[in-house]
Amino acid sequence: MPHSTLTVGDVEITVLHDSEVALPFIRTFPDVPLESWAPFQERYPDAYTKTADGTDSLRVHFECYLVRSQGRTLLVDTGLGNGTSNPAVVANIGGGIDGVLLTELEAAGFQATDIDTVFLTHLHPDHVGWNVTRNGGEESATFPNARYVAHEADWAAFDTPLDSQIFGYDWWAETVAPLRRMGILDLIDEETELTGELTLTPTPGHTPGSMSMIVNSVGERAFIMGDVFHGPAQVTETDWVFHYDMDPVKAGETRRDMLKRAEEDNAAIAICHHSGFGRVIRDAGKKYWQAL
Ligand SMILES: [Zn+2]
Ligand SMILES: [Zn+2]
Repeated sequence: MPHSTLTVGDVEITVLHDSEVALPFIRTFPDVPLESWAPFQERYPDAYTKTADGTDSLRVHFECYLVRSQGRTLLVDTGLGNGTSNPAVVANIGGGIDGVLLTELEAAGFQATDIDTVFLTHLHPDHVGWNVTRNGGEESATFPNARYVAHEADWAAFDTPLDSQIFGYDWWAETVAPLRRMGILDLIDEETELTGELTLTPTPGHTPGSMSMIVNSVGERAFIMGDVFHGPAQVTETDWVFHYDMDPVKAGETRRDMLKRAEEDNAAIAICHHSGFGRVIRDAGKKYWQAL
């Protein structure tokens, strides 16, 4: 797939696709009446699809973002992974199909060794899949020259045998716990500047430690927001509850806060599960995602 690159001041952001699945509305947004989706299916045909048996579904991308700023090369999230890096998740969510992040990275002109920082927006199983490469009994960091950065509150939430199986399978032991053993995981607990142009800011609700990357360069802004939004419809319907939001009330507050900021700053916006970049526009008094 062609690489979509956005230039924000002096910063370059490239979408790197890892994987894609269809997830039914009734599973992802069980409280939203099915007919309420119709205007969004019409407005954003690329965001929706049907499963093999014809069930209306979100077209869920698993996207990562390559960010270049002031000589640094950063990766935002590591997708679903493959059958050895994140086996339970690739089997259960990914339909048994390996993600293609590393191929995409190479096609964009970069190697895994070029990444100096991996920013994990949160520690859910579909955002950490390529963290670790497994070769027989050998485990190594997929991005060997990188520090991995995540929020302390997500580590605390998931680093227990019970919570790391909240989806009914274990991913933690394969993808996140090894980073700490290797000494390459930096846990932060407050707004943190990575470069003069890139700041990580807490955007909690979906998980307690969810964070977004704020890009601010030469008067231009972009927000890379992980799972603050699950598709463009939530830009309009901010109180639609995504099934896996751990604190739905807080998640809604965060969505509204970030939309207000994005509108005030005229920021480009990006999320993990919908491809490409958008901007917040108004139409008949309502806010909408407008693709760039
Ligand atoms: Zn998530
Ligand atoms: Zn996710």
